[in-house]
Amino acid sequence: MSIEPTIVYVCPHCFSVGQSPGRCSDCGETRVECHPGDSGNPSCKPPMDKEGRILSRAPLWWLAHSVPYLRDQIKKFMSK
Ligand SMILES: [Zn+2]
Repeated sequence: MSIEPTIVYVCPHCFSVGQSPGRCSDCGETRVECHPGDSGNPSCKPPMDKEGRILSRAPLWWLAHSVPYLRDQIKKFMSK
């Protein structure tokens, strides 16, 4: 099993997510570093299935903000 990167960079303005720090390509806001695995809050972690495979690099709170349909699909998948 490969280890996925656990740090993403999130724009606080439009919630776009990047793999490197710097300015948001959409609005120019400075992205903030986000450690999905640091917090005990499950919504800050990337969605995984029961075997620990990451289903998306985006944390659940971001999915909830931007793609509710995908979030629902992942929840169904995770609850199987
Ligand atoms: Zn932005």
